[in-house]
Amino acid sequence: MIPLFKTFPRLAKRLPYVSFCTLPTPVERLESAGAALGINLYIKRDDCSGEQYGGNKPRRLEFLLAQAQAMGAREVVTFGYAGSNHALATAIYAKELGLGASLMLLEQPNASYVRRNVGASYLAGARLFEFPDLKRLVPRAVLLLAQLTISSRRIPFVVTAGGSSPRGTIGYVNAALELKEQIEAGQMPEPDLVYVPFGSMGTFIGLAIGFQFAGLKTRVIGVDVVGERWGNASMAARLQLQTNQMLRSLDGSIPTIPYGQASRIKHGFLGSGYALFTEEGLDAVDFLNEHDGIHLDGTYSGKTFAALRSDAQAGALSGQTILFWNTYNSRPLATLPDGEYRRLPRAFHHYFESEVQPLELARQGGGR
Ligand SMILES: *Cc1c(COP(=O)(O)O)cnc(C)c1O
Repeated sequence: MIPLFKTFPRLAKRLPYVSFCTLPTPVERLESAGAALGINLYIKRDDCSGEQYGGNKPRRLEFLLAQAQAMGAREVVTFGYAGSNHALATAIYAKELGLGASLMLLEQPNASYVRRNVGASYLAGARLFEFPDLKRLVPRAVLLLAQLTISSRRIPFVVTAGGSSPRGTIGYVNAALELKEQIEAGQMPEPDLVYVPFGSMGTFIGLAIGFQFAGLKTRVIGVDVVGERWGNASMAARLQLQTNQMLRSLDGSIPTIPYGQASRIKHGFLGSGYALFTEEGLDAVDFLNEHDGIHLDGTYSGKTFAALRSDAQAGALSGQTILFWNTYNSRPLATLPDGEYRRLPRAFHHYFESEVQPLELARQGGGR
């Protein structure tokens, strides 16, 4: 039984859940990186959260897709940027559960991972739609929902962008309770600080709530990787309230957790914008790869580790136990053979026909 249901047994009967992750994900000591930074450093390996695809999205989809099934949906529709790890995870796990997936994807800065994710989503059988801007997204989404309702004779299940609805966020409340069990089992000491990216906020808020439920002293540092428009303190406070209320509506014995008690948003590592790589972010990717063989990405986890590294170098973390929560997938993906991108809808071809962003090109990175 998952830690959330052990902690609050009433939820087990009331909250739809389908298990496809391999949990608990391991916690490990980052010996080499920790020594280089002079801190006591651990990693939570959510890169291995699912067999087919890891990272932070599968934990949320266990609750979201279970709800889709409970509602009798045959199709799921979700939203993201073109390279969205969430959209890809939705495509992969919807397919595993026998559900159809439609992905409505917004234009974003080019990178090799955009090509990889779009290709893998296509190979997972998802229908792909690209949008240059939000204005055109909404009317098209309404039309698509109507079409899918008619063709599948059921109402499609809509998954919020990033999966960070209150229901999806519960996946990370459970993850915090999972960490508590690992601490109790002696796998690591209770961390003082946990570093996670702050994007659609479900990871940050889920952990913040869960650490309070667990009675841990741990504080969550959410490193801004999307900018104020898409993620800010008032949106985070609202998501926390709604998630907490949803849980309390299912089990009245669950406590109310005030926002901000166990969490803090950290700015200054975004660079020029979402999915635009930074020198320090890519340096952090190289650093962790060289030291401990862990592969991060330039959009989320690299910028987050850059923040951790900067705090360590400033001496702010000495004497504390620090946990880096890895949100980036490390499972191999199906890839479209070279040149076969033409099988994709035309609107996606430009990612394959134009250069990746200058910083990736300069580093001849690939693989980020
Ligand atoms: C989606 C994503 C995030 C952002 O997490 P949120 O819970 O949406 O804030 C962080 N890291 C990676 C690798 C992601 O794909």
